[in-house]
Amino acid sequence: MEMEGWKISMDEIRNILPAWVEASRLHAGEGRVASYIPELAKAPQQALGIAVMGPDGSLLAEGDSSLSFTMQSISKVFTLMLALMDNGEEGVFAKVGMEPTGDDFNSMLKLELVEPGKPFNPLINAGAIAVTSLISGDTPAAKMARILAFFNHAAGGADLAVNADVYRSESATAHRNRSLAYFLKDNEVLGEEIDVEDVLSVYFQHCAVEITCVQLARMALVLAFNGTDPISGRQLIPRRYVQIAKSFMLMCGMYNASGEFAVKVGIPAKSGVSGGILALVPGRYGIGIIGPSLGSKGNSTSGVHLLETMSSSLNWSIF
Ligand code: GLU
Repeated sequence: MEMEGWKISMDEIRNILPAWVEASRLHAGEGRVASYIPELAKAPQQALGIAVMGPDGSLLAEGDSSLSFTMQSISKVFTLMLALMDNGEEGVFAKVGMEPTGDDFNSMLKLELVEPGKPFNPLINAGAIAVTSLISGDTPAAKMARILAFFNHAAGGADLAVNADVYRSESATAHRNRSLAYFLKDNEVLGEEIDVEDVLSVYFQHCAVEITCVQLARMALVLAFNGTDPISGRQLIPRRYVQIAKSFMLMCGMYNASGEFAVKVGIPAKSGVSGGILALVPGRYGIGIIGPSLGSKGNSTSGVHLLETMSSSLNWSIF
């Protein structure tokens, strides 16, 4: 752990962060708040908040950092690691591939064209639904309880819960996700014993877990330290599974802007349609961001601008 390094830069960041947040906030106007899940459309378009957490728990929180929002696709990083803990690598990758798609996150296209039914990777919707089906538990409620317990564990003993309004709103309007899931069922990626609606219900619930930037930063910190919580010193997630999750974050965590993000920012990150971003600087910081206004590729416009500014100014790229 580069103790000196991260402490010095934490002080540097503290002074300049408010100005960076306000400069990045101006980019909210370039995007739009997601509305295909009706409940998400209520988010404040101009909001921008960030939390940066260091390995001793020291915290910088700026802008609208107390705003709560739902994890959406960010939750997929953690359900992937839980499914790996439950099934091992072979079990998970029998059902999903390891390649970016270049298609939209909810696309049907390659599902039929390439290896019928096998989703390209665990972060697109089809792949995440398949991963959710692999999580142990006798009932949907038991699976969801395990998922929440795992999220809470990774968030340093938080008390996260599902936002029932967002869950219901997505469940009532998720025609495309439903069609993806039934297609997976038809191709036996979801096995005979699996009830499609049960899997979807767990998937919508874990996407609707409500969180703040600070809690997101706490979860990211565990990934920044390869599964060990640097605050408690406890290994929470096997290092290998964190490595796998971070590889997918880099390849496809920022939808079809993942390549551009790797070039311009160069750190593992995952965004969600609520405008949240979880990012990490390996061995240094966990980062949580909220900026509900999304650009054409589905990422927070102000959040990405803020990460670009920070990475170029503080030399964060891992490359
Ligand atoms: N629950 C959302 C969906 O399945 C998550 C999408 C996302 O954040 O990319 O459409």
